[in-house]
Amino acid sequence: MTFLGVEGIALALTAWTLTRSDYRIADFGYFAALLALAVVQAELSRTVERIRRTIADAPHINMTSVWTFGGALVLPAGLAALLAVLVYGHLWLRLWRDMPNRPTYRVVYCAAAVVLSALAAGELVGDRLETGMGGSVLVVGAALVYTVTNAGIIAISVYLHTGGRSPRSLFGGVEDNLLEFATLVLGGMTALGLLYEPILVPFVLLPVLVLHRSVLVRQLEVAASTDTKTGVLNARAWHELTQREFAEAAGAKSTFGVLMLDLDHFKRVNDTYGHLAGDMVLKAVATTISEQVRDYDSVGRFGGEEFVVLLPGAPEPDVLTVAERIRHAVQELVVDVPGAEPAQQIRGLSASIGVAMYPAAGHAVERLLHVADSGLYQAKNTGRNQVVSMAAAAAT
Ligand code: GH3
Ligand code: MG
Ligand code: MG
Repeated sequence: MTFLGVEGIALALTAWTLTRSDYRIADFGYFAALLALAVVQAELSRTVERIRRTIADAPHINMTSVWTFGGALVLPAGLAALLAVLVYGHLWLRLWRDMPNRPTYRVVYCAAAVVLSALAAGELVGDRLETGMGGSVLVVGAALVYTVTNAGIIAISVYLHTGGRSPRSLFGGVEDNLLEFATLVLGGMTALGLLYEPILVPFVLLPVLVLHRSVLVRQLEVAASTDTKTGVLNARAWHELTQREFAEAAGAKSTFGVLMLDLDHFKRVNDTYGHLAGDMVLKAVATTISEQVRDYDSVGRFGGEEFVVLLPGAPEPDVLTVAERIRHAVQELVVDVPGAEPAQQIRGLSASIGVAMYPAAGHAVERLLHVADSGLYQAKNTGRNQVVSMAAAAAT
């Protein structure tokens, strides 16, 4: 409903501004140049984009803002809006049409957001961009308006569709926003180039393509260290990170804790509700653990329904508090059984947790894991649903 609202407004404004704008011959030249560059960029980056879209639920940030923001700066409103529509239309046709994680309605929504952002930025710039201080300030202001409008419209969809996608997956992290900023800078330069040194404009393609490729590299890195089922670190990545923290802690003579958590009677969940529901529980538990720890603690899935947490710089009482908090949070979990009719919910989960402290429990990562595992074993053997911190000597 409201989705159609945003799209309807964008479409109506595009049509209206197209009929209302004053056109000069040069405008059509700018329009053709920006559209041609956008098409060439999309065609050249198809492979990268295909790989990128399959590895992660990537936020909608893409580098087409170079052209749509550039268009907002130099084109009359109608042509700027039309450019955004055509750029997204081409991307959809050539790239996104058959991608399951890129449904058409979302592409249309993003396109509408870009149209409105370009119109808002263009409204600020007015008729024409100038050189000198005035021009630069205007470009920065327009970039702000463009970003805020776009983020605002995306925020509406987050607000309306709270199911599933976190704000972070829509807005991206620091790196994504840095990329978006770089894209706008290039868009500003493209616009100035078109007005004052058009020969240089095609060269903008080079940094755009290189930047786009760098995004793939970074996302591949993230994908390689993430456990796909739960979104936390996989065992290898957790181990590597822990080794690094370990070296640092040894140098700084600080303490830290390792938690090892295993769900109680998890086999019953699978047997009662099915494997798919079991997977949902694993994801919910991973999310819950991540919510209970600080940003710089690392959560990993060791395999099956076993999780590990590293808590750097924390003394034992704090580590035990965190472990208890996680245990409680797991007990509070309510997980919907996927596809169940009538709706069914899984409750009454619990977990056993083993704790090991550095340096009391040992000086090597493997030793700490062994001690935490002994604690976990004891927790299981003495009734489950509890936290056991092993003194090093007690662990064999
Ligand atoms: P307890 O730990 O309390 O002794 O009992 P448990 O039933 O949890 O026993 P255990 O930890 O040995 O069981 C592991 C079970 O987890 C067996 C397997 O079916 C299930 N499992 C392992 N990996 C996955 C997975 O990726 N998805 C699902 N759904 N189940 C998994
Ligand atoms: Mg278990
Ligand atoms: Mg297990």
